[in-house]
Amino acid sequence: MISLKDVSKWYGQFQVLTECSTEVKKGEVVVVCGPSGSGKSTLIKTVNGLEPIQQGEIFVNEIKVNDKHTDLAKLRAKVGMVFQHFELFPHLSIIENLTLAQVKVLNREKGAAKEKGLKLLERVGLASHANKYPAQLSGGQQQRVAIARALCMDPIAMLFDEPTSALDPEMINEVLDVMVELANEGMTMMVVTHEMGFAKKVADRIIFMDEGRIVEDRPKNDFFDNPKSARAKDFLAKIL
Ligand code: ADP
Ligand code: MG
Repeated sequence: MISLKDVSKWYGQFQVLTECSTEVKKGEVVVVCGPSGSGKSTLIKTVNGLEPIQQGEIFVNEIKVNDKHTDLAKLRAKVGMVFQHFELFPHLSIIENLTLAQVKVLNREKGAAKEKGLKLLERVGLASHANKYPAQLSGGQQQRVAIARALCMDPIAMLFDEPTSALDPEMINEVLDVMVELANEGMTMMVVTHEMGFAKKVADRIIFMDEGRIVEDRPKNDFFDNPKSARAKDFLAKIL
């Protein structure tokens, strides 16, 4: 479903990604980890075209992402993304946050969009908050809204960039629980996270990055039981 072939990227002179290749099959959950600054955010943002690349190829469901003819707005609707900071529209109510892109990007009729939004709010346990504004919700609740908003677009895959790292500890699990449920329902997911408990529970594979390279890309158990690279060993020793 997602395929990266020899992807390299530079910010000016600085090479942030070097020949990154991987594939994510339909229904797979891949956790991306590695030290701060290793290129994890940049890598997953290349998948939905939020970060352009200078070399290599990226395909999502046979659609070439790094092609100037590709409609990136449509692609981003199909590949949902959830960030560290929830990035809800502060001046819109929760339900308006959930319906806006459905109407604008997918041309859904307002009533149908609202119905879908309410259904997904219910799914993340927030149906009673539809008419509140983001600032009236806790961080954990806002992040669950952000996930629901992405799901309103009927995505074929979901990208998460450290979705719990801005949250107070007591709110982390309510967000991870929603993600575990999604994974168990068969959603294709790429997740940048340091939550190794989550990785152990639902990941199929782990990608470990260091200095812009994919250093390891292996089944979860291989990675945790027997990391190959010294950097991954070091990283796991610090984090587990
Ligand atoms: P990670 O998510 O693993 O912490 P990032 O992908 O955010 O890493 O960043 C990788 C490297 O690229 C870092 O050295 C960072 O400083 C640099 N970087 C990230 N975004 C930009 C940018 N817009 N311009 C220049 N350098 C950047
Ligand atoms: Mg990052």
